[in-house]
Amino acid sequence: MIARDALLFLSRQEGLKDFATRFRPFKKLTTRFVAGENIEEAVAAIRELNALGATASFDHLNEGVTNKAETEGEVREYQRVLARIDETGIKSNVSIKLTQFGLDIEPELTYRNARAVVEEAARRGNFVRVDMEGSNVTQITFDIFKRLRAEFDLNTVGIVVQAYLRRTERDVQELLKIPARIRLCKGAYNEPPEVAFPDKRDTDANYVRLMRVLLASGIYHGIATHDPKMLDATIDFAQREGIPKSAFEFQMLYGVRRDLQVQLARDGYKMRVYVPYGKTWYPYFMRRLAERPANVWFVLKNMLKG
Ligand SMILES: Cc1cc2nc3c(=O)[nH]c(=O)nc-3n(C[C@H](O)[C@H](O)[C@H](O)COP(=O)(O)OP(=O)(O)OC[C@H]3O[C@@H](n4cnc5c(N)ncnc54)[C@H](O)[C@@H]3O)c2cc1C
Repeated sequence: MIARDALLFLSRQEGLKDFATRFRPFKKLTTRFVAGENIEEAVAAIRELNALGATASFDHLNEGVTNKAETEGEVREYQRVLARIDETGIKSNVSIKLTQFGLDIEPELTYRNARAVVEEAARRGNFVRVDMEGSNVTQITFDIFKRLRAEFDLNTVGIVVQAYLRRTERDVQELLKIPARIRLCKGAYNEPPEVAFPDKRDTDANYVRLMRVLLASGIYHGIATHDPKMLDATIDFAQREGIPKSAFEFQMLYGVRRDLQVQLARDGYKMRVYVPYGKTWYPYFMRRLAERPANVWFVLKNMLKG
C-alpha cells in the first residue's frame, strides 16, 4: 500500500515527468506498457494483437493538458488515428481522456473538442470510449458524456466506471437508463476513503456486483481487468445466465497479462487491448507500476543491465 501510494505520488510530479521523458534508458523500458511514440508504432502493435485474435483501443497519452492550442492538437491527433484505422483496416476503436481535451481549462472547450472526435468516429462508423480519471472530475466527465450521448448513438460513444468509488452503483443505474455502453474497471487513482473503498476486498466485491448488473442488462459492455478472480466470476456468471460470449468483451492493458489475453481470445471470448502511445507516457507508466510494485524491480533490473 505504501509503495502504491508513493508511486502514485511520483506519477503526479511534473519535474520527474520531464526528467524521465528525456532519460533514454528509462524510455526504453516503457515499451513493455507503451506501444511507441507515434501512430505508426501503435498501428504495428495493433496489427500484432489483431493477429492474435484481439481488437484494440488507441489511447494517445497526454493527460492534464492546460493549453488550449494543445487540446486542439489532441483533436487532430485522434482524427488522424480514426483515419489510419480505416486506411489500414486494423480492428480498433479509440479511448480519450477529457483532461486531454481541456477539462483543466474549461468544460465547454472540452465538450467541443470531445464532440469533434466523436463526430469523426460517427462518420466512420467507429466508437469513442471516454476514460474515467480522478474523482475531482467524475461528475463533469459524466455530464459531458451525457451531452455527447444525447447527440450520438449507443454504438458511437461510451463511458467508464470505477468499482472503487462508493458512488458507482448509483451511476451505473443512471447510465443504464440512458442507455450507455460501459467499461467497468477497478480504478487507478489515489482516492480518499470518503469517496473510494479503502479496502481492496470491498472494491473487488463491488466489481463483481457491478459486472453482474452490466452483463444482465443486455447491452454490450467492457469488463476491464487482469484479475483472475474477476475474470472467473464473469465467465461463471455468463455461463450460469446463458449470456453468450459475443454479448460482452474483456479488456486488458497493453503488456499486462499477455498470456491471459491470448488464452481468452483462443477460448472464443472477445478481447480488447488498450494500446497507449505518445511522448507523455510518464503518468500512465507510473500508474501501471503502482498497480504492481513488483514491476519496479523488473524496471530497475533492466536499467542496471543497460
Ligand atoms: C482496458 C482498461 C482500461 C482502463 N481504463 C481505466 C480508466 O478509464 N480509468 C481508471 O481509473 N482505470 C482504468 N483502468 C485501470 C484499472 O482501473 C486498474 O487500475 C487496472 O486494470 C488494475 O486492476 P485489475 O482489475 O487488473 O486488478 P488488480 O487487483 O490491480 O490486479 C489483479 C492482478 O492482475 C495483474 N496485474 C494488474 N496490474 C498489473 C500490472 N500493471 N502489471 C502486471 N500485472 C498486473 C496481477 O496479477 C494482479 O495480481 C483500465 C484498465 C483496463 C484493463
